[in-house]
Amino acid sequence: MDSSITTLQQLFEKQKANALTVRQTTAKQRCAKLRKLQQAIHALESEIYAALKADLRKPEFESAVFEVHVVQGEIAFAIDNLSEWMTPQRVSSNMVNMLTRNRIGYEPKGNCLIIAPWNYPFQLLLSPLVSAIAAGNCCVLKPSELAPATSAVLAKLIKQTFAENEVALVEGDVAVATTLLSLPFDHIFFTGSTAIGKVVMQAAAQHLASVTLELGGKSPAVVTPHADLKKAADKIAWGKWANAGQTCIAPDYVFVHESQQNEFVSLLKASVDKLYFQNKQLNKEDYGKIISARHFSRLKNLWEDAISKGAKAELEGVFSESDGTISPAILTQVDRNSRIMQEEIFGPILPVLTYKNSSEAIAYIRSHDKPLALYVFSNRNSEIKSLLEKTSSGGVCVNDVLIHLSNPYLPFGGVGPSGTGGSHGFFGFKAFSHERGIMYQNRFFDIGKIVYPPYKRKGIIGKILKRLM
Ligand code: NAD
Repeated sequence: MDSSITTLQQLFEKQKANALTVRQTTAKQRCAKLRKLQQAIHALESEIYAALKADLRKPEFESAVFEVHVVQGEIAFAIDNLSEWMTPQRVSSNMVNMLTRNRIGYEPKGNCLIIAPWNYPFQLLLSPLVSAIAAGNCCVLKPSELAPATSAVLAKLIKQTFAENEVALVEGDVAVATTLLSLPFDHIFFTGSTAIGKVVMQAAAQHLASVTLELGGKSPAVVTPHADLKKAADKIAWGKWANAGQTCIAPDYVFVHESQQNEFVSLLKASVDKLYFQNKQLNKEDYGKIISARHFSRLKNLWEDAISKGAKAELEGVFSESDGTISPAILTQVDRNSRIMQEEIFGPILPVLTYKNSSEAIAYIRSHDKPLALYVFSNRNSEIKSLLEKTSSGGVCVNDVLIHLSNPYLPFGGVGPSGTGGSHGFFGFKAFSHERGIMYQNRFFDIGKIVYPPYKRKGIIGKILKRLM
């Protein structure tokens, strides 16, 4: 699609003109649209896998589990629950409104913009779309330009499934995103970095559009002295190096008790070996590549900076520029002022830090931006409780990593610098809806009138009301 300002403005106007029709659709009609999307994805499945392989060398199994099935699951869950979500919720009234009926209705926000990143380029564009359709909105989608093959398949999928005046996809880079952000959308759902999240929020402020910001950050994993170290190592190895560390909720760094560092690091190395190596060779069939040359050199610089400041390479990162591969890498003795501890790593390098007592780890986490996820490995409830009580994060997963994202009954999202608002299941539906308070006055007994003037004539009733209200 031509992405000039005039074309994008026309597209926006077309969707705006259609928004009134779309908002009045029934649950049955919206489910039919979701089924159509479900079938279109199914029909294009092999093209989707090929595109994800081209962009990120994503293994087909990972593409199926983390991309396609996540979206299909979101669709199935919405179809099963939509009529209940759309039914206005009855709420009670207070004494003053005794005889009224009260409801919370979920009305569509209207015209929405969804901007997605490159790391899970398929599901991070389409999962929010499922929620937007379920909530009765028109949508413009902007996938990431850094995953061009997936962007092209998504463009084809959307074009063949939806009328342009309801859902349209615009391919392009920052310039296109900037133009789209200048249009007066009702809601902007942005997934990406914290830095660009600020740009999006500023743009939204011009039109007072609401925002959902799914951002990033440094998600810590804390392994306590009472954890099952082997299980913790296995799970952290999987969650850190899936998609070559390019996962928003991947453990960014690990905190382990100083007395257990050596044991934990050797268990971690053994887990990495089991998961990603065959006969001492990295198994690239099951291991992704770094998305771009820029990110490759960013990660190389982080590694070199950490090493130059005294970090010890427990597992040496091998940087193969020709195919964009960085092998799983582990660092200990990392200077906390090195760049790798200052910015989100978003790649396959894992710093392992130590603590003497848990208050040190807690103080460190508290002194940094609130992360998107917090992982706690422990078999002691008191330790888990203490860590949860004293820290804040978007979500938490105890004795595992990443999988909290797969439960549609949990809200998924960040807090403060890691994001605003939630997604998945009902929380996604709510993100694209306005919660409208609706009161129906009683047709026969309108006791509201007792507070109307003239007040002097109210006598004793007036005095009682003044005390009660
Ligand atoms: P990014 O912020 O660079 O880009 C995201 C999207 O914003 C892209 O579509 C891009 O074209 C657009 N964009 C870039 N610059 C822009 C600008 N100046 N104005 C308007 N739009 C702009 O992020 P990325 O590199 O694609 O993704 C990585 C980041 O996303 C990481 O920080 C990661 O943690 C985060 N992330 C978060 C989640 C989550 O669910 N919270 C999921 C995946 C990734």
